Amino acid sequence: MKFEDHIKQFQLQRGAIYYAGRRLVIVEAEYLAGLQQKMEEIIGTDGTFAIIRDASLEGGRRIAKALVTMFKDLLPEELIKAFFKLLEFGGFGLSELKEFSLDPFKMTVTCENTYLAGTITGASEPRCLFFTMAVAFIEALLKEKGYDKEFTYEETQCVAKGDNICESKFSQND
Ligand SMILES: [Zn+2]
Repeated sequence: MKFEDHIKQFQLQRGAIYYAGRRLVIVEAEYLAGLQQKMEEIIGTDGTFAIIRDASLEGGRRIAKALVTMFKDLLPEELIKAFFKLLEFGGFGLSELKEFSLDPFKMTVTCENTYLAGTITGASEPRCLFFTMAVAFIEALLKEKGYDKEFTYEETQCVAKGDNICESKFSQND
């Protein structure tokens, strides 16, 4: 799908924007990164990530259901690519699937120019929250496809700590 086609899917109704039947809001990336930074200052990075992961479970399930319905014939790997495309179209950065195996589940994803690039800098740890959202989504998506697994990931490179790109490695829990 091209960005132009993607944009056509947006519907504006009485001050609300809809995509695949779900309501969206568009916010400034710097606002989002700033909000994350504020949460981390108040409750710490681990707490923030735990909350976002938990909050992403339900949202992840909804997006997974919408994508599985929209693209019935796609294999899990292609659906995961479609999800990262959706994040790209949402302005979160340019992701690429570098390594993928379904069973056992193993995946490496890189992302250029993530939403926090230039806003969160000089960090000692990786900070991209959208990989946390991706975990929830991928678990939900594979559940829709009949694979019941849970994953962990490690962000191995991150622009927030000065790397050129962000990279995350995903694997299934034993
Ligand atoms: Zn990052």
